Amino acid sequence: MRAVLLHGPYDIRVEDVDKPSPSRGEVVIRVKAAGICGTDLHSYRGKHPFLRPPRILGHEFSGYVAEIGEGVTGIEVGERVVVEPLISCGRCDACIRGEYNVCRNLKVLGVHVDGAFAEYVKVPAEKVYRLPKGVSYEDGALIEPLAVAVHVTRRSKIGLGDSIAILGSGPIGLLIAQVARCAGARRIIMTDVLDYRLRLAERLGADVTVNAKDEDPVKRILEETNNMGVDVAIEAAGAPPTPAQALRVTKPHGRVVIIGFFEMPSVQLNILDIVAKELHVYGSRVYWHDFATAIELLSEDKIDVRSLVTHKYGLEEAKEAFEVLDKKIGRPIKVLLTL
Ligand code: ZN
Repeated sequence: MRAVLLHGPYDIRVEDVDKPSPSRGEVVIRVKAAGICGTDLHSYRGKHPFLRPPRILGHEFSGYVAEIGEGVTGIEVGERVVVEPLISCGRCDACIRGEYNVCRNLKVLGVHVDGAFAEYVKVPAEKVYRLPKGVSYEDGALIEPLAVAVHVTRRSKIGLGDSIAILGSGPIGLLIAQVARCAGARRIIMTDVLDYRLRLAERLGADVTVNAKDEDPVKRILEETNNMGVDVAIEAAGAPPTPAQALRVTKPHGRVVIIGFFEMPSVQLNILDIVAKELHVYGSRVYWHDFATAIELLSEDKIDVRSLVTHKYGLEEAKEAFEVLDKKIGRPIKVLLTL
């Protein structure tokens, strides 16, 4: 089969590799659409701490069941599906509590094991979800990042009337804004350093957008909230200045959720912000029982994922797709590979 392999930093090759065959409890999916995530981009740049090349990248995808392994029931060849791309150990304390997203031995498709930028990928059968009839493969490829947004929204306990600041208007920030609105958020303020992302944020429902290159986002968010601060601040940029900003703009007893981390292993925070305001600070990692909600929100048209897709490429053009995203050619937001 054809597959996109990362051989080292900035070294993407489309090659022939052996087609996977399912072991007991596994299914093989014929991939139809796959999104390139910020994580894939970090891997591409050689900055992913766990990825050891050569590796087939990709974990946001949809497709149909091509082959079924021994012992798998309840799913048939040909069914259209989306996959939660996590492989948890099932034995650690977190897994025993059912909290598989914080499994101590968590493996992610496209990072620790081969992923979905290929014609076929094998996955644990219990991670497969049916794609509803009205949801296309291309929209289905965005269910994974949508599940991230659902998880963040649940972690932050966003509710009716809350004011929200989302620091970072990439695909995840843009999806969080929409899920937060579904959850009852009243006022949504979004920041970024790229104007084209902020324009899309406005189209998708942001009440206020702030370009952090042009003005101080902390000052502006406080002004926009009569110097009260927001109920919830979400760090969705993964950039060094944003965690400290999130703490500054949150009101006393407010909630702060941190999701990005790759390029900021150590950041400067004013701990007084947490102590003096008794802030609730949460991390948010992938998803935990959030896929079903993400699928329902999408199938009921509560979320616009299509506006996020700016570029589509065939598998053979994967190198170009990564360059577009890495160098921000043609104002990319979500870049899809379609097969
Ligand atoms: Zn585990």
